[in-house]
Amino acid sequence: MNFDYDLFVIGGGSGGVRAARIAAGEHGAKVGLAEESRMGGTCVIRGCVPKKLMIFASTATMMADEMRGYGWCDADAHHFDWTMFRAKLDSELKRLEMAYTTNAERAGVEIHHQRAKLADHHTVELADGTRFTAKHILIAVGGRPARIGIPGEELGLVSDDLFLLDKLPHRALLIGGGFIACEFATILNGLGVQTVQAYRGDAVLRGFDLEAREMATQQLSDIGVDLRLGLSPTRLDKTDGGVAVSFDDGSNEEFDAVFFATGRDPYTGDLGLENTEVRLKKNGAIEVDEWSQTSVPSIFAVGDVTDRVNLTPVAIREGHAFADTVFGNNARKVSHDIVASAVYLRPAELGTVGLTEEQARERGPVDVYSAVFRPMRSMFAGANTRSLMKLLVDPETDKVLGCHIFGPEAGEMIQLAAIPITMGATKADFDATMAVHPTAAEELVTMRHPSRRHPQGDE
Ligand code: NDP
Repeated sequence: MNFDYDLFVIGGGSGGVRAARIAAGEHGAKVGLAEESRMGGTCVIRGCVPKKLMIFASTATMMADEMRGYGWCDADAHHFDWTMFRAKLDSELKRLEMAYTTNAERAGVEIHHQRAKLADHHTVELADGTRFTAKHILIAVGGRPARIGIPGEELGLVSDDLFLLDKLPHRALLIGGGFIACEFATILNGLGVQTVQAYRGDAVLRGFDLEAREMATQQLSDIGVDLRLGLSPTRLDKTDGGVAVSFDDGSNEEFDAVFFATGRDPYTGDLGLENTEVRLKKNGAIEVDEWSQTSVPSIFAVGDVTDRVNLTPVAIREGHAFADTVFGNNARKVSHDIVASAVYLRPAELGTVGLTEEQARERGPVDVYSAVFRPMRSMFAGANTRSLMKLLVDPETDKVLGCHIFGPEAGEMIQLAAIPITMGATKADFDATMAVHPTAAEELVTMRHPSRRHPQGDE
């Protein structure tokens, strides 16, 4: 059978574009791609990239405080010009969007700037009714912010909206305690917005190492976020000035803006999946095997829509491995076992790789090397910032099972720590590494004695 394309990719985000570029540019496949919104997807347009630039913008007052501690008596950050920042941000995102488009086109990918749906196992239909057949179809449509099902929730905003605000709110509520809620609380607070964060649990960032979570929770309060634990909204109502929020403790408060940062759902609705036999998981994510292949042999899926590890670099790896496997005669799987990640808080970030102390204890015996200290830079300035360097070690094999860093630039540090840990390094390997002095990261190679041991794990 003759097809219009060897591969048709639905979704021009990180995973889809990588797959398309490799299949077309490196393996000579004829590739079409449809994107209904802006090329670059969540990470580039409404996620990691604008978020990180906003994190940078939000540190001015902290830096000014620190510099005053170093003798710059008149260091101050008076007025943040959101309009100017937004204009710069918009042009940077346009530049990146263009780069994504031209790189894909240069590789030979034909881009269709409209929505696509599946019509059958080898056919996609664009919004204008055009149909294309393809030998293989890759679904890389990502996820969308989820709300929580309370009355009036449509009055609240989601993460996508932050980057499009005409002006910053005076007083904002963030709902949730995950990656996005904590990063957005840090940003808004740093930009001078009175920020309340309501989280239903007792320490933010569930799933991360508890010791690190507790430090992150404390830091949010220390920088001025009004963090309210054990609290959830029950309804939202419109008022003259903004939104009134009722909470489950019976209280009621008004905000200029309310943001839901309560997780993301796979974007599988209205994708034409009913025209196929593609199987979904309970939460609507597309079920795939270790080759990113769905229950239909001609249809594959990568990235957040599969709800494996929902991070950009993972989607990129999955897309690349798919293209190499299907078009490059080079079968490659992606290991999701050890994936480092970082939460961009301020002043300390949280970087993590491998098992948490809690997971390691469930697995068996573990030695915990944990150093909590005040980093040199902020201590001199008189700030009370705390850092954590933590290694979890299997006492039987000496293998490092996990590393957790809470401190300035932890994202950068964890990327480097992830290399030996992925290679299977032992604590002896860390100990044999000469320290770089004076750094915070030298703690990772100088912790001689366990802070605690769990000889039996949790058994
Ligand atoms: P998360 O899953 O990280 O957090 C969702 C938060 O919402 C949790 O605190 C959760 O509480 C809370 N929540 C969920 N349902 C309800 C409810 N019904 N009522 C009250 N609270 C609720 O999702 P995010 O939206 O923060 O981020 C989505 C994804 O984006 C992440 O999984 C991550 O992969 C990615 N991301 C990565 C970043 C990075 O790498 N730096 C940055 C931003 C996003 P509970 O903990 O109790 O379940």
